[in-house]
Amino acid sequence: MTGSPTPRVAIITGAARGIGAGVARRLAADGLAVAVVDLDETACQVVVRQIEDAGGRALAVGADVSDEKSVEAAVERIAVELGDPAILVNNAGIIRDNLLFKMTAADWDAVMNVHLRGAFLMTRAVQSHMTRAGFGRIVNLSSTSALGNRGQANYAAAKAGVQGFTKTLAIELGAFGITANAIAPGFIETEMTAATAARMDVPFDDFKAAVAKDIPVARTGLPEDIAHAVSYFASEGAGFVSGQVLYVAGGPKA
Ligand code: NAD
Repeated sequence: MTGSPTPRVAIITGAARGIGAGVARRLAADGLAVAVVDLDETACQVVVRQIEDAGGRALAVGADVSDEKSVEAAVERIAVELGDPAILVNNAGIIRDNLLFKMTAADWDAVMNVHLRGAFLMTRAVQSHMTRAGFGRIVNLSSTSALGNRGQANYAAAKAGVQGFTKTLAIELGAFGITANAIAPGFIETEMTAATAARMDVPFDDFKAAVAKDIPVARTGLPEDIAHAVSYFASEGAGFVSGQVLYVAGGPKA
């Protein structure tokens, strides 16, 4: 009896809900052992249970990606309890939207800290595991907002920054069998976009219908649409694809 090979380990941040939860379920279905990382460990348990009920392997990990010590402890724990991380999906995110003249420095810093500092700290913590193994897949969540979006000076700057960060990782880490790519989603139905609709006092269904009018495939996106793209970038066969930004938005973006 040889048994089945040990599954590769994937870390997905911000995975207690929304896109991250969809990505975690998909990578688990692909056969990976999955670390479900989010601010509140208890909130991660729901996704872990869904994965386990479907026959997969998962671990709930509470961590704040913007906190250096929290990140290092989380990655250490994942390496011990699940195995060396081979795949990292930097998905954790927040929005603090406002027009520039009303945007506070705290709103600017909060968004930079989660998206940019968070992706940096997580990637720095996992890279030694990947370089040692001579294999790694890093997928970072950007956004169509990187191209500019009213009321999102902080978020647009962070998501454009994620693209530059991704391309640099591709250059520095390529020789170690590690690829780095970014996915830039358009409108995806999650609590993040539901909160935007609520803030504008528009029912979510009306908001989605209005947005869909400007999307060539005539619908808004689902977490599964992004999970499918992550699954491709994370796959063994995508080893010659690195430093790319894939817009997953139901139509072309610049
Ligand atoms: P969401 O708000 O539904 O989920 C984000 C998750 O990240 C939450 O569970 C939250 O607790 C977690 N998180 C926030 N700060 C964290 C921190 N410091 N440490 C750990 N976890 C933290 O959002 P979503 O819509 O699923 O978005 C996921 C990612 O995709 C984000 O990076 C977002 O910017 C990006 N994105 C979303 C859309 C969209 O339309 N929903 C479009 C483009 C890009």
